[in-house]
Amino acid sequence: MSFSEEFDRLPLAQWRERSLAATEQEVRESLSRNHCSANDFAHLISPSASRLLEAMCQKARMITQQRFGRVMRLFAPLYLSNECVNNCRYCGFARDNNIVRITLSLDEIRREAAQINALGFRNLLLVAGEHPKLVPASYLAQCIRALHDTFPSVSLEIGPLDTGAYRELVEAGADGLTIYQETYNREVYAAMHPAGPKRDFDFRLQTPERAHAAGFRRIGVGALYGLADWPLEALALAAHVRYLQKVCWKSWITISLPRMRPHAGHFDPPSPIPDRELVQLTAALRICFPDAGLVLSTRERAELRDVLMHCGITMMSAGSHTEPGGYTGVGRDAAPPAKPGFPTIMNAAGSPCSTQASGQFEIADSRSPGEIARQLQRFGYEPVWKDWEAALTT
Ligand code: SF4
Repeated sequence: MSFSEEFDRLPLAQWRERSLAATEQEVRESLSRNHCSANDFAHLISPSASRLLEAMCQKARMITQQRFGRVMRLFAPLYLSNECVNNCRYCGFARDNNIVRITLSLDEIRREAAQINALGFRNLLLVAGEHPKLVPASYLAQCIRALHDTFPSVSLEIGPLDTGAYRELVEAGADGLTIYQETYNREVYAAMHPAGPKRDFDFRLQTPERAHAAGFRRIGVGALYGLADWPLEALALAAHVRYLQKVCWKSWITISLPRMRPHAGHFDPPSPIPDRELVQLTAALRICFPDAGLVLSTRERAELRDVLMHCGITMMSAGSHTEPGGYTGVGRDAAPPAKPGFPTIMNAAGSPCSTQASGQFEIADSRSPGEIARQLQRFGYEPVWKDWEAALTT
């Protein structure tokens, strides 16, 4: 049975009530267990658990070091295209945003990749908006083939595809796929995705299973925090992860914790998650899913990333650009002007968006990859730029 069939039967409201009513004693008991149930996770994200945050972080740190060692895997996103047929209300690439749009050519992608490679990265995340005509699977497969020699690990963050298209991308050399459900609340999902194929909640929810069937070695999931009540999102996400670890056992499941960031256009997150609760959620996920990878992006500011890296995080992006051509400026001259007749879109600082291709959102940690690597070393972690070689599996 697919997770989307199980999903509507999950006792989310019951878990939420249990979380709200959890006592400090129940949190301590959940914290002392080696295997967490859904109820234990509800306890660990409760208001009562917030008072035991230091103990939670200590346990999360201990589990992370036992399972992963004192290492942090570093990766960089390479944005291929900011074209998109969807109109997500919270995204700078939404189709109604009057931004400058480009799709990089293979040559431009190679130049971007060479710059990222020179920074030290060997783990690359290719990112693109959803546009079946301008960003088809065949284009993505070409990009992967062009980069696979220099990047042993190439993963993808793209619009959901069918299993056949995913197989083509795995055969081209992609080993990971990240797909955020954005929100597990059906009503909020419908309101946030007013147009485009992304309106199909269930097709998106089933994506990790199609990715597993296609042979992706690593599958990343997550919710975009800020769209709906965060504890409910976390409870649904945890149920999704439990399902995937059981059913999609050939793939390694990773969890991302993205929060909303300023972007072209204007959108106030209706349900933001505060910093302290983000730390608590990170620790709770680590304690309940000891073997999952936990991914942290440059959406978070440096000081908070320096805290979170001790609470269960195993992978971090660094030095990120969220606009196509951002590392080298390639494609900047070729970028067509924004569409005439559309209202001018302001960036988060209140200025008109520039004539270069626009980013998906503003990053908050602007430290260079080298600075982040040195910070990790100061804290006693080894930054890992390469941790995967496809040849080892053949
Ligand atoms: S979130 Fe993804 S699908 Fe939605 S507008 Fe942005 S790029 Fe397109």
